[in-house]
Amino acid sequence: MSRRLRVARARRELDVFLRELRAEGPIGFVPTMGALHEGHLSLVRASVGECARTVASIFVNPTQFGPGEDLAAYPRPWEEDQALLEAEGADVLFLPSAEEIYPAGPRAFIDVADLSGLLCGAFRPGHFRGVATVVWKLLQIVDPDVAYFGSKDAQQAVIVRRMVKDLFGRWTIRVLPTIREKDGLAMSSRNRYLDPSERAAATVLFRALAEGKRVLESGERKAGMAVRAASETLAREPLARPEYVALASLADLRPVEEARGDLLFAIAARVGKARLIDNLALRVGERVEEILP
Ligand code: AMP
Repeated sequence: MSRRLRVARARRELDVFLRELRAEGPIGFVPTMGALHEGHLSLVRASVGECARTVASIFVNPTQFGPGEDLAAYPRPWEEDQALLEAEGADVLFLPSAEEIYPAGPRAFIDVADLSGLLCGAFRPGHFRGVATVVWKLLQIVDPDVAYFGSKDAQQAVIVRRMVKDLFGRWTIRVLPTIREKDGLAMSSRNRYLDPSERAAATVLFRALAEGKRVLESGERKAGMAVRAASETLAREPLARPEYVALASLADLRPVEEARGDLLFAIAARVGKARLIDNLALRVGERVEEILP
């Protein structure tokens, strides 16, 4: 049975709802940028299952977009999103304006400096500083017991966890698996940018990761060999413009030479107007198993 979803646009409104909800038990929080799909909804479902009350937010955060990126074009189907959240049993949607989150403009920032410039950060300067700052602000505003994040954005999850640990945040961070389309494509709000031929080409990210993983499963432990196999698969798709393919340590996101331990196999490519990312978190020992980042 779905409960009524209440929408708060201002922090003051949200505070009134939160005071009521807190009396009823643990609060789960799912921060998003909207244009919701099954990936987002899997996080909402986990929160509804594990916490007494669930708050979701939709905020297209300007400070995590670089000049020339898709801030203005980012899809904003908020009425549909609202209906989806209500159907999943979320209790509150926080839908703030940029002024509500940055009343004095963006001034104070959080930068998990050693992780922010690697992988996607090397191609999107300032992106993870914007992400860390907005996630910190949202966690301060909602003050949930548990906050839910997807493995799809593994670097983001690693950075958020590190931020909360190093800055003594009291929130539990839960990271859940990537939800994929039947053909392997990781669900993403940005998949809406793809035309049918680009949509077909976009599966190359997952195919490349699967190829790299197969190389490791064959016993190869030179990281370069697995990266090469993935890169070659990616290069065979004419509609994909590769940004990077990397096999990195999950602990510090730095590239490894020897493929052993907990690793992040990460990939980014442009297809049409969309910048797409995907990854597999792998525990490589005698055998290769998928883990959560
Ligand atoms: P976004 O709206 O893209 O900022 O994503 C909001 C949250 O949903 C983040 O924690 C993402 O990692 C998560 N998410 C996005 N896509 C997926 C997916 N395909 N599977 C699981 N989680 C996802």
